[in-house]
Amino acid sequence: MIMSEPILEMKNISKRFGSVVALDDVSLTVYPGEIRGLIGENGSGKSTISSIAAGMQKANEGQMIFKNKEWNPESMIDALTGGIGMVVQESGTIAGITVAENIFLAELKLFKNKFGIVDKKKLYEEANKVLQEIGIENVKASDLMGSLDFQERKLVEIAKVMMKKPDILVIDETSTALSHDGRTLMYGLIKRLKSENKSVIFISHDLEEITTVCDTLTVLRDGKLIRTFEKEEFDDDLIRTSMIGRELQGDYYRTDFEATSQEEVALEGKNINYGDKLKNVNISLHKGEIVGIGGLSTCGMHYLGEALFGALELDGGQVITESGKEIKSCHNAVSQKIGYVSKDRDTKSLCLEASIKDNIAIAGMNIFKNNAGMITEKNEKDYVQKQVNDLSIKCSDMNQQVSQLSGGNKQKVVFGKWIGCDSEILILDCPTRGVDIGVKQAMYQLMIKLKKQGKAILMISEELPELLGMSDRVLIMKDGEITQEFNRSKDLSEADVIGYMI
Ligand code: ADP
Ligand code: MG
Repeated sequence: MIMSEPILEMKNISKRFGSVVALDDVSLTVYPGEIRGLIGENGSGKSTISSIAAGMQKANEGQMIFKNKEWNPESMIDALTGGIGMVVQESGTIAGITVAENIFLAELKLFKNKFGIVDKKKLYEEANKVLQEIGIENVKASDLMGSLDFQERKLVEIAKVMMKKPDILVIDETSTALSHDGRTLMYGLIKRLKSENKSVIFISHDLEEITTVCDTLTVLRDGKLIRTFEKEEFDDDLIRTSMIGRELQGDYYRTDFEATSQEEVALEGKNINYGDKLKNVNISLHKGEIVGIGGLSTCGMHYLGEALFGALELDGGQVITESGKEIKSCHNAVSQKIGYVSKDRDTKSLCLEASIKDNIAIAGMNIFKNNAGMITEKNEKDYVQKQVNDLSIKCSDMNQQVSQLSGGNKQKVVFGKWIGCDSEILILDCPTRGVDIGVKQAMYQLMIKLKKQGKAILMISEELPELLGMSDRVLIMKDGEITQEFNRSKDLSEADVIGYMI
């Protein structure tokens, strides 16, 4: 499609970690002005191939040519100086120092005065210029990195790389950390690079996003390059099929387009106030209903989930169940059969150092107690095994440590914990964040099943397609308030909703 010399050629790259083959003979060519997408399930090799180009690690075999020269960067900084910069999937910044120091980490010597001391004023000035240039408001050069939220940290990382004006910018799974405004900013930068004939390698789980943003799309599976699609060949089903190696059987989102629920209100929040995060929020959740909550990541929706689970000390208002019980603590919530899947899965929903068994069993004690109120090893095992089977949790066995599981399987463990103990109300905060489409599909189908059983589900999400695809009602929040409500309908589109979020 693009008739110029390639800027980067990766030829026959293989990479092994012990017995794991992370990349198997992968060849990838990127042209100037090209926005190349990389997609594939967790563990397919996306981060590995891009981190090799960006100097973070070396291939076992293969060759790279960049700007017509052999390319063997020794480090990330080396690669960035040479023209390939990468925004990594995990945090790439240091919490204990300022934004400015993070941005200019490799060049602090440029700001030293004749006494060898860093001239902070100049450093902040320059860093503020960079932030402004990229369009990042709300963050000051003098802010401590650790005081920023997830999204702001990601944006600073982008700024740090962009400042070096790379010929190729690699963005690895950053969008899940960004809300709509953060994403819009990032898409703007990508467009700008393209207009300057620079290239972008864009890694994302999100099919809709990646097909919108990219010119070409390469699918990886199990360390192998399966296929590269040109824009005109983009086809969601075909891409999904290449990703998982078989056709995705069955439905993805709900196939009905009517809002349905039972009469009874399972959970009600009345006039909930929490600092400036939640302002007079009223919400009711019916049995058999899926209520979606959307908005920017700072709109308060995550606090609302915590408030309804009794996890916040409210400044005003009440959370009440169907039977009139007030929820004032997580303990109350659990005893009223409310389950909660946190957005911060690894820190709040799971004990990573413990086994699958312990993580799932902890909320189900009341169920597998025998008649005498005793917990027997056998009952506990049967209980956990049922969740592992029902949810198809991929593991060596139930004693495996949760930290060893992939993101999707970790999330299944969290689901298993709350579904196994018969939660009647489920509060799900970004339940499918960072999980594969295979697992996503399983979760959506599970939510549909739970809805049919009359469970009440609140799904907080930063992804509009799943909010629209799954909810009976979508509530939009902005600045701590619910600003708009939409009923499920075939005609409801993302464009209808976005306007109320920003
Ligand atoms: P993706 O980014 O597509 O999710 P990765 O490139 O991170 O996948 O990983 C590809 C494979 O290599 C996975 O099986 C992963 O577990 C393995 N892997 C990646 N980095 C390491 C490492 N440092 N040590 C051991 N195995 C690794
Ligand atoms: Mg990765």
